[in-house]
Amino acid sequence: MDIQQIKPLRFSFPIGRLFQTELRMHGTFVLFLIWIAADQFSSGGWSNAAWGVGFVCLVFACVVMHEFGHVLAARGFGIRTPDITLLPIGGVAHLERIPEDPKEEIIVAIAGPLVSALLSLIFWSAHGFEPVNVQHQPDSFMEVIGSLAAVNGGLLVFNLIPAFPMDGGRVLRAMLGFRISHLKATQLAAAIGKFIALLMAGLGIAVPMPMLVLLGMFIYTSAKREAELAESQPAKTIY
Ligand SMILES: [Zn+2]
Repeated sequence: MDIQQIKPLRFSFPIGRLFQTELRMHGTFVLFLIWIAADQFSSGGWSNAAWGVGFVCLVFACVVMHEFGHVLAARGFGIRTPDITLLPIGGVAHLERIPEDPKEEIIVAIAGPLVSALLSLIFWSAHGFEPVNVQHQPDSFMEVIGSLAAVNGGLLVFNLIPAFPMDGGRVLRAMLGFRISHLKATQLAAAIGKFIALLMAGLGIAVPMPMLVLLGMFIYTSAKREAELAESQPAKTIY
């Protein structure tokens, strides 16, 4: 979902390593899995619980692939990614630095959504390009394939919302960076990001959809922190 220049999140633990990047799971993600299992168990016993948890794991495997789109693109510019943390609201790739060259930032930011687009296309073609019913929990192989097509399409669209520091917001910041200074571009993108985050949180309360409220809060604080970080750093030469 999101690429950031921060230390591993607290309350997270390692679950594996891939391409020299540590995969971490946040404590809230474990609670999320337990909640899914309990919710599904109460409606249909062990088999529902297994389907529910299995499906969430498949969705997050797609999220990890999205994050590795960012990771491998960043590596092309010599930027390492020490870790990726899975949260119930998505994945956060922790890059050792964010490229200041707008062209590089666009490539790194867009690589994740490109992976989601590709996955969506692959799953949808496996589903025979048939319409997908996402109203209920998938309980057959073909429904899982169809739902994964929809989920990856959703990840693509959602990440392209210009809510800095989500991927679309980073593209926006980079585009602004062609015309104004890196600092001004960051401040403007962060202001837009915070505004969209408040809209998301408001919508999440109105619907109600708690996950959207959490995501709005996460984007708001991340945008605020990145703007503060840019303001505290001396101006750098953009190469
Ligand atoms: Zn992303």
